[in-house]
Amino acid sequence: MGPGPSDVHPRILEALGRPTIGHLDPDFVAMMDEIKTLLKYAFQTDNELTLPVSAPGSAGMEACFVNLLEPGDKAVVCVNGVFGNRMVENVTRCGATAVRVDQEWGKPVDPDAVSAALEANPDAKVLAFVHAETSTGARSDAETLCNLAQRHGCLSIVDTVTSLGGIPLYVDRWKADAVYSGTQKCLSCTPGLSPVTFSDAAVAAIKARKHPVQSWFLDMNLILGYWGEGAKRAYHHTAPINALYALHESLVMLQEEGLENAWQRHATMHRALAAGLQSMGIEFVVAEAARLPQLNSVYIPEGIDDAQVRQYLLSKHNLEIGAGLGDFAGKVWRIGLMGYSARRENIELLIRALSDAMR
Ligand code: PLP
Repeated sequence: MGPGPSDVHPRILEALGRPTIGHLDPDFVAMMDEIKTLLKYAFQTDNELTLPVSAPGSAGMEACFVNLLEPGDKAVVCVNGVFGNRMVENVTRCGATAVRVDQEWGKPVDPDAVSAALEANPDAKVLAFVHAETSTGARSDAETLCNLAQRHGCLSIVDTVTSLGGIPLYVDRWKADAVYSGTQKCLSCTPGLSPVTFSDAAVAAIKARKHPVQSWFLDMNLILGYWGEGAKRAYHHTAPINALYALHESLVMLQEEGLENAWQRHATMHRALAAGLQSMGIEFVVAEAARLPQLNSVYIPEGIDDAQVRQYLLSKHNLEIGAGLGDFAGKVWRIGLMGYSARRENIELLIRALSDAMR
């Protein structure tokens, strides 16, 4: 019950152990097509350029920045936690300029501040933000932020590593342009893959680049030769076959459950956990309206030793919860309810184990 990776369902672990076949095998290629279709469902998009990058969420992040930004470009970046900071780092490493919109940790991104930054920087090409900040547990209003990007002629880059499969996410309806995620959170798959999706506008921007994408591995133009619609399936890199079996299984499971039902399950489990924690006098960091059901940040009660409690939970109850990151280190616990971890028996275990640890 940490901030990810979440528990992996036995069906997904079983899929991981299937015999490895070649990355050009017709059966494998058919599965790749299914993965793309299932990812479109998870992202709620018809974007043709929708695929899993063969590396973790950070690579999906980097894929979005290196493909959309060129040296000399400008990006407005919202920073309300660790991962917004990482986005700034990506922008500068592309040789572009980052305009930061900082927000107090634990709060969602402030659309008024973003609007002001976009007004003041009419030459910005990109607006980047994190939908679900795993370091704080805050949910930002992705629809409003994507809308602001559109109104100012910017492409949006949206981090959905923790949101995909856990809370409502509508890539097409919200007109998000470059969206990346991870497999290890609400999809309950093993870590190491990063689903991404690019709108037609984002693809047009990639095609119109003056400089080649500085990363060979993450250059979407090259990856498309293997993953693209009607592509020749030309060798680009050896696909992580077994990891893709696992992703396929997790997406099939998401489809079986139904996306809305998965969102609902996360919300219901969150309410049960919140009731239990609040009955112990434990308080949430994030205001109710902006709380992520899948990542519950709570203040460590006065007089309680952070590391000792987490160590006790792990050794005595075989239960992991997350420590605070950055500004929140030593002050906050992060309790994950992601994917297969978002189950009632886990909540009961957590409440029992935490009461025991704090006695
Ligand atoms: N973005 C967010 C919001 C995350 O929570 C994480 C990982 O926890 C990442 C990006 C990076 O993903 P990964 O650790 O898979 O590289």
